Amino acid sequence: MGERFLAPPWGVPWSPQRDTEGTEPMAQARSIKGTAVAPGLAMGPVHVVRANPERVPTWSVREDEIGVELARLERAIDVVSERLEERRQRIAKQTGEKDAEIFAVHRMILADPMARKRLEEQLREERLNAEVCVQALIERLVEMLGGLEGDNVRAYGADVADPWRAVLDELMNRETESFVSCGEKFVLAAAELTPHVVSMLDRDRVLAIITETGGRFSHGAVLARSFGYPCVVELPNLLSRLEQGMRVIVDGDAGTIQLAPNEADVDAFLERRSRRVAWLDELKADALLPAATSCGRAVSVQVNIESLRDLDTFELEHTDGVGLLRTEFLYMERTQFPSEEEQYRLYRRALERMSGRSLTLRTLDIGGDKQLPYFKMPDELNPALGWRGLRVSLEWQDLLNVQLRAALRASAHGSLRVLLPMVTSIEEVHRVHQIFDRVRAQLGEQGYEVAADVPVGVMVEVPSAMMVLDSILEDADFVSVGTNDLVQYLLAADRDNPWVSRLYDPCHPAVIAGLDRIADCARRAGKSASVCGEMAGDYATALMLFALGFDTVSVSPHFVAEVKHAVRCIDGAALDSLASRVRGARSGTEVRAELEALRARLHAHPREDGATGVGGEPSGSTAR
Ligand code: PEP
Ligand code: MG
Repeated sequence: MGERFLAPPWGVPWSPQRDTEGTEPMAQARSIKGTAVAPGLAMGPVHVVRANPERVPTWSVREDEIGVELARLERAIDVVSERLEERRQRIAKQTGEKDAEIFAVHRMILADPMARKRLEEQLREERLNAEVCVQALIERLVEMLGGLEGDNVRAYGADVADPWRAVLDELMNRETESFVSCGEKFVLAAAELTPHVVSMLDRDRVLAIITETGGRFSHGAVLARSFGYPCVVELPNLLSRLEQGMRVIVDGDAGTIQLAPNEADVDAFLERRSRRVAWLDELKADALLPAATSCGRAVSVQVNIESLRDLDTFELEHTDGVGLLRTEFLYMERTQFPSEEEQYRLYRRALERMSGRSLTLRTLDIGGDKQLPYFKMPDELNPALGWRGLRVSLEWQDLLNVQLRAALRASAHGSLRVLLPMVTSIEEVHRVHQIFDRVRAQLGEQGYEVAADVPVGVMVEVPSAMMVLDSILEDADFVSVGTNDLVQYLLAADRDNPWVSRLYDPCHPAVIAGLDRIADCARRAGKSASVCGEMAGDYATALMLFALGFDTVSVSPHFVAEVKHAVRCIDGAALDSLASRVRGARSGTEVRAELEALRARLHAHPREDGATGVGGEPSGSTAR
């Protein structure tokens, strides 16, 4: 071991699996344990988004949560009923009692004992959330009355369903935007952690994100980390236990949330947060130093960014460049495809901002859960195995042409590298080279200046690319491993599917063997090998990747200082022995045990100058 390790002021086992032990019985628990997705601590009022407005969310309600769910339904009915009464009085004053009558009728419809009984029965018997039961009631009313003769009766049918629609809106928060616009910062609570939910947020207003579903490696999680929000997912029955505006504490390090904290909770939170800030300040103070082990092996720590705004949110001097610019998010933030000129300006600005450090621009990687609002993708049964990444760019070559033209024009203003997503074969790489050469020649003829050397690399995130990497590397300048996808494809476990999240294991020996193979191919070909998947952001895992032979990791900016610090605290011999132990591990559990042992050794070697006390806390577990 080298430099003394600055231990984080918490101790949380890092694991892709949710730890459910020790949670209180659901209905009374004030603290809920989920999966930690993005680190940090936050406290504030919660804003609940129950669904994306187009879709009625469905979830099953646990036996001991039925009372809570019925109360939520009652509350929504009461809110709508009060609103109707206010409206009745206002209209009565403005235009007369006759016009106001309809609101009284609507209130009576909501009070109908038959409808209420039906809702309660369905909720109790089928254990479905309130939204689904109200939606079923609306459909039934529309069907019943819509089939009757006469325009007036049909119009009455629409009227009868209308107040229930308002209840559904209330349940789904379609009407509570006023809370969001009131200016206070909030913790966002949602059913799912989708890229759509995260990207539509006003960054300055969100304190943290908590959701019922959404894995640690989903694109929503990637964005939450990149935006710097503490984030906890896989919180069972979260939404039924929250009320709009309820205060919560989010612990993105431990993966827990506390509902309606009391004074002691708040004091503990404030104390921990100040220790955390002190710890981060110390780490950052060191982050200007190069990433090299104590025996002098230099490695590179780069950053992943999703938007050019991200370039202003971290210290460039702490990094060795941008290892992954996910350009699809530039496309997602718009209402139509960005033009060549627009892209050129953006890429040029980014390159200029890099002050000579390299910027790795990944070509458009849409498909699966990354959809463009203005480009209809086919409905696919298996989108993860479908039309995405390079496959789209090679079929819609205009897209690739425009993006490459913009990128190559910008290359004159900095150090650009181009990275291809979802490569599966050497033919695909050849086809890109042909297009690349054609675009370069055209730009030359048109008098544009283009950098002489723009390396083109491949992402290895599909097993076939891993298996034929030797030949692919004859035509690629570098390799970057997308472990978020590679793990899902190697283990046949969807990165976004909570039902298989326990199988999605970046420490699985098959993944370790694959990574080992990739690093070896790159070393033999004399090419740089990086990992830009999320697993690299965990400092012990990053050390394992360097031990296996990768020369670079590219991580969310928030992890740079910690990863660099861990690198400086280890020496070559420790890395070699780690590599041989994880190569020999027979299960994910054994690999994780190696990582935890590594953390324990680092933690047992804290900085003696930890006068602030941030390094000295004994942790229940040594891992994070
Ligand atoms: C990956 O798959 O690991 C990766 C970096 O790409 P994305 O997360 O954007 O799919
Ligand atoms: Mg990927």
